[in-house]
Amino acid sequence: MRIALFGDIHANLEALETVLADAEERGCTSFVCVGDIVGYNADPVACLERVRSAGWPVVKGNHDEDASGVHSLETMNPVAATALQWTRDQLNDDHKDWLRKLRMVRQVENFTVVHSTLDQPQSWNYVTNKFDAMSNFSYQFTSLCFHGHTHVPRIFSRGTRVKELDGDSVTLEPDQKYFINTGSVGQPRDGDWRACYAIYEVATATVTFHRLEYDIKTTQEKIRAAGLPEMLAERLEEGR
Ligand code: ZN
Repeated sequence: MRIALFGDIHANLEALETVLADAEERGCTSFVCVGDIVGYNADPVACLERVRSAGWPVVKGNHDEDASGVHSLETMNPVAATALQWTRDQLNDDHKDWLRKLRMVRQVENFTVVHSTLDQPQSWNYVTNKFDAMSNFSYQFTSLCFHGHTHVPRIFSRGTRVKELDGDSVTLEPDQKYFINTGSVGQPRDGDWRACYAIYEVATATVTFHRLEYDIKTTQEKIRAAGLPEMLAERLEEGR
C-alpha cells in the first residue's frame, strides 16, 4: 500500500491538483491531509471541497481554525488579517462548521497525524530543530507520526537519541520513532517553490518526499485578481 501524506495546501488549487494527480500516478490508494487546507491563496472553497468530498482523514491546522471564525483578527499582522478576512468571506457556514469540527490528532493505519506537535497540538508550536522534536516524541505512541506547519520537509528520528536526518527519503527502522514533516503543497518555505508531499510505502517501510512543478502563474493571477496582498503572490515563486 502507498499512502500520500500532504498538507499546508493553503488554498492553492493548482498545486493541490498536481500533487493528487502525481500521487495517483505513483499508485497511492490512500490519502491523508495534515491540515491547513485554507489561508493565504485564492481557492479556499475549491480546495476544501476537493478534500472534504474525497472523505480522506484530515487534521485541523491553525489556518483552518482561524478561517472557521473562532478568533478575533485584532492581534494579527495586517497582511495575515486581510487574507484571513478574505478567506472567511469566501467560506459559507457549512464550510466553517466542517473546519471547526476537524480533529487535532488522528491515528490512521499504524501512524499518527497532527498539524503541529503531539505534546500541545492546540498551541501550534513550530518544530524547527531536534530539541523541538524531542518534546513531541514524549507524546508520540506510534513509531511513525506525520505533521506539517513549518512548510519545510524534515525527518526527525529517535533511537537512543533524537536526530534530524538528511535527504528526501528514509527507510524506517523497527526500533526507532519517526516524526516527519510532509512539507507544503501550496506555499513551500524551504527556498524551493515546487509543491511538496510525501509517500509512505508500507511494504518497504519507506517515506519519500516528492517535489512537483505546477502552474504557479495561474495561482499568482488568481491571488492578484482576488485583491489579496501582492506579497502572497511573490513569495510563492521564491519558496519562502
Ligand atoms: Zn500552514
